[in-house]
Amino acid sequence: MTDASAYDVAVVGAGPAGLAAALSLAQQGLRVAAIGAPPPRRDTRTAALFGGSVTLLENLGLAAVCRTAGEPVYGIRIVDDMGALLRAPEVTFTASEAGLDRLGFNIPNAALVDAMRMQAMAVPTLSLIDVAVTQVVPAADGVALHLASGSVLSARLVVGADGRQSICRQAAGISARTWGYEQSAVACTFSHQRPHGGISTEFHRPAGPFTVVPSPDNASSLVWVERPSTAEALAALPEPDFRAALEERLQGLLGSVGDIGPRAVFPLSGLSAEVAGRNRIALVGEAVHVIPPIGAQGLNLGLRDAACLADCVADARAAGGDIGAPDVLDAYGRMRRTDIASRIWGVDILNRTLLSEAPPVQALRGLGLHLLKSIGPVRRLAIREGLAPSFLAPRLMQPGVQKADA
Ligand SMILES: Cc1cc2nc3c(=O)[nH]c(=O)nc-3n(C[C@H](O)[C@H](O)[C@H](O)COP(=O)(O)OP(=O)(O)OC[C@H]3O[C@@H](n4cnc5c(N)ncnc54)[C@H](O)[C@@H]3O)c2cc1C
Repeated sequence: MTDASAYDVAVVGAGPAGLAAALSLAQQGLRVAAIGAPPPRRDTRTAALFGGSVTLLENLGLAAVCRTAGEPVYGIRIVDDMGALLRAPEVTFTASEAGLDRLGFNIPNAALVDAMRMQAMAVPTLSLIDVAVTQVVPAADGVALHLASGSVLSARLVVGADGRQSICRQAAGISARTWGYEQSAVACTFSHQRPHGGISTEFHRPAGPFTVVPSPDNASSLVWVERPSTAEALAALPEPDFRAALEERLQGLLGSVGDIGPRAVFPLSGLSAEVAGRNRIALVGEAVHVIPPIGAQGLNLGLRDAACLADCVADARAAGGDIGAPDVLDAYGRMRRTDIASRIWGVDILNRTLLSEAPPVQALRGLGLHLLKSIGPVRRLAIREGLAPSFLAPRLMQPGVQKADA
């Protein structure tokens, strides 16, 4: 008789990265528990998900959410709005230039999580357990999880997808470096008069980027980075005043602004865990890396965590090994190290070049944009590497692994 409280894998945290990991691992026939309450409030964020992330969703049977809730993104335009005498040139990265149909889809986080939960309910080997985990106790042969309901579960491998304050990370004995930025982002969705044409626009401004990303129904999602006090003040403005401020910032790009959805403020911060796994616990998503919302990298990284972990677990099973063994977690850590470090570093440098008033730094940033504008191969390389690192191709991010649709 099997022990009903014993799982192959328990995923702690049912956000988008955790649910992606749970679906990816359950697809191998493993008995998986995804533990954590659904988000308590509606998330105002959307995530622009690029090539490999979209393929992962398709392979997990989630292609429909891209079409029904998402909007295709065909290009990314960077506009220098630093207010300097000499403006750097405007640069547009297009999917067609890279030989792609589209760069990806912009999908509301709430719709993505809802679709993932629906899909999880349809997978017989995957259980959704809607409670918090209060304690994580690793041992030599498995991990015990104490739930807020009073139950105790065990698993051979735990996936810590429990966000930046991860108790799984602490239980694994993994330290993390954290840092703050004197910036916060105002996020919301708004409708507008002119079509966005599937192009995302990032204005580079002295307080940080101001980005509008295509959303369905002639709307865009906004990530407006400012000094924290300014961001709070903007989010608290009466709607007509916020609309006026938004229209001024947009400089006519999208015409007049219509309906504005709920606004939320996200303080910018960074986190980098020392390793991605130890003591039968593998970390994914914001439990292992937090980066500012610049260049749409955070959840794309989290989905690559899920797909890479699935590869490492599949390889261990194929070799008849223990899925929570140290060599599996080491392999996962090696697979993730360069991708995570390079994205954290790249986003941090870009953000700091905007904040720096030093003329040489500004000149260097302008030179970078000039090079991207004028040299096609450099621009095409930037598009490809911006979408996903070329050295990494986890199986679930390759087309056609499974075409089941939700
Ligand atoms: C304004 C903004 C815009 C962004 N835009 C993009 C974008 O365009 N593209 C992109 O790729 N990324 C983007 N990101 C980043 C992206 O939103 C995050 O990377 C992603 O939401 C993180 O998902 P996660 O599952 O790792 O963490 P979370 O969503 O934080 O999920 C963690 C889950 O764990 C649960 N949990 C915590 N502790 C416990 C416990 N003890 N027991 C059980 N459950 C627990 C929490 O309740 C939560 O549900 C953006 C971020 C911001 C702030």
